[in-house]
Amino acid sequence: MATTEMGNGAETGKNLNFLEEIIEKDLAEGKYQEIKTRFPPEPNGYLHIGHAKSICLNFGLARKYGGTTNLRFDDTNPVKEDTEYVESIKEDIHWLGFDWANEFYASDYFDQLYEWAEELIKKGLAYVDDQTQEEIRVGRGTVSQPGTDSPYRNRSVEENLKLFREMKAGIYPDGSKVLRAKIDMAHPNMMFRDPIMYRIIHADHHRTGSKWCIYPMYDYTHGQCDSIEHITHSICTLEFDVHRPLYDWFIETLGIFPSHQYEFARLNLTYTVMSKRKLLELVRNNYVDGWDDPRMPTICGIRRRGYTPESIRMFAEKVGVAKRDNVIDLSLLEWCLRQDLNARSNRYMAVLNPVKLVIDNYPADTVEYFDAPLNPADPDGPKRKVPFGREVYIEREDFMEDAPKKYFRLKPDGEVRLKYAYIVKFASMVKDADGNITELHCTYDPTSKPGAGEWRSVKGTIHWVNCNVCEKVECRIYDRLFTEELMGSIPEGVDYKTYLNPDSMVIKTAYAEPDLLKDDSGIAVQFERTGYFYKDPKNGAYNKATGLKDSFKVSQTGF
Ligand code: ATP
Ligand code: MG
Repeated sequence: MATTEMGNGAETGKNLNFLEEIIEKDLAEGKYQEIKTRFPPEPNGYLHIGHAKSICLNFGLARKYGGTTNLRFDDTNPVKEDTEYVESIKEDIHWLGFDWANEFYASDYFDQLYEWAEELIKKGLAYVDDQTQEEIRVGRGTVSQPGTDSPYRNRSVEENLKLFREMKAGIYPDGSKVLRAKIDMAHPNMMFRDPIMYRIIHADHHRTGSKWCIYPMYDYTHGQCDSIEHITHSICTLEFDVHRPLYDWFIETLGIFPSHQYEFARLNLTYTVMSKRKLLELVRNNYVDGWDDPRMPTICGIRRRGYTPESIRMFAEKVGVAKRDNVIDLSLLEWCLRQDLNARSNRYMAVLNPVKLVIDNYPADTVEYFDAPLNPADPDGPKRKVPFGREVYIEREDFMEDAPKKYFRLKPDGEVRLKYAYIVKFASMVKDADGNITELHCTYDPTSKPGAGEWRSVKGTIHWVNCNVCEKVECRIYDRLFTEELMGSIPEGVDYKTYLNPDSMVIKTAYAEPDLLKDDSGIAVQFERTGYFYKDPKNGAYNKATGLKDSFKVSQTGF
């Protein structure tokens, strides 16, 4: 089972998460006047829910403590990065409800980083290494064995400077040389065994064009970028904790603004994958219909599915900030969406699996309009008009021939209320040669009209749509993208794609009350008794965002 470990409720202002504790202490001690955070995506793919968590955390902390957040694109690998991704990332952050103080790029700092590299060479703290990638890997040793010095480790400062400048000038091919920090090949933290600072890549960069053919590595870039921007709290995911000492080493050795790194557990969700590499593969090989396929865990995907920014922010808050890795139940995300939509979405009736019901004693060619609230939370608020008539569609599941005692929908000799309209009583049914029901017949009770006389209750109420005054709409019913709950735990060597759910999308034609098409709320609507549906801005189909029932056990988690 996935854990549903919750944070400790930052919203109360009392139970602080560990990052809030650190920040409050730093502010109280006057270490900083104002906090600064950053969100540092690599523009090599679309953002997913894990990134949304990081965005809500970084922007949320700055907002809470009156600080600011920079958006910094970590664009140090020209081969994988693209402006298409830059634009989508900015759109997604805005959609989530956040705005950055500054838009920066790691590539803005390439000149400064280069100068610092020369400075380290001059101090005897960096050298050009001609070994192959493989030789360097072997030379680093293992966790239990120290590394061995490169034969190029003791080049003179002059030679290193000359070679590094030649690397920059472009006279060496890719992979022929690297610049390494000269630290300690026997250091217990492998990160310190002369980490690579620069590699040669003859490729055009989406911003700097052909200016550079040497590009800095993550470890040589990230801390210094934070420092240049005076980021006070640089928050990243847990796997970077082994990098932290190196982050500090570069900052201390260069004597620049002391940014600090803090790590929290990355967000994992059940029944999905969140690595950009895997998501890219699903897109490239057409397992899904693009990055914004409503089944994808990408921000653009869940937006198309009908998720709201409010529900994602609520989710990020509920998940909290953990210090150890865990997997969050997908149903918590759905629960948050339901919380939000239940309060503010408009209601309509739509029948997804129709069977015709004829009301024998109701006049043909008559349309009677019933008032229904757009949102039951506001019964005196805006209304919609629901057209009633002699022939309506109801859901097949709302009639049962051999019904158990507790079945309170329509059954032989039973009565049921057609929501907002009359009570009808079963009369007969018509079957085809195979025994399938093709038509149901009822009679209605004219005295059961809402608002006319005393209200008569029956146990069951079902939704319906007038067969002749209705709109045909396409519905897309989604299920989990993968059948396996813990996608992170599938064995090495097993292709994660074997767990793709073949039934993750089912397309249906539904009949809906006419006012649905006039809805201009901009958010998902509720199809009464069925679920929340969002009109796909791309193709006009109604995407099922989530059902009405919770599979998530609220009590388990203490909120
Ligand atoms: P991937 O491994 O999927 O490619 P990434 O970590 O390389 O993701 P980046 O663009 O580097 O993606 O991430 C930007 C920021 O978002 C980083 O600070 C990273 O720590 C954070 N982040 C990425 N994935 C998650 C996640 N699942 N949960 C929380 N934060 C995340
Ligand atoms: Mg990354």
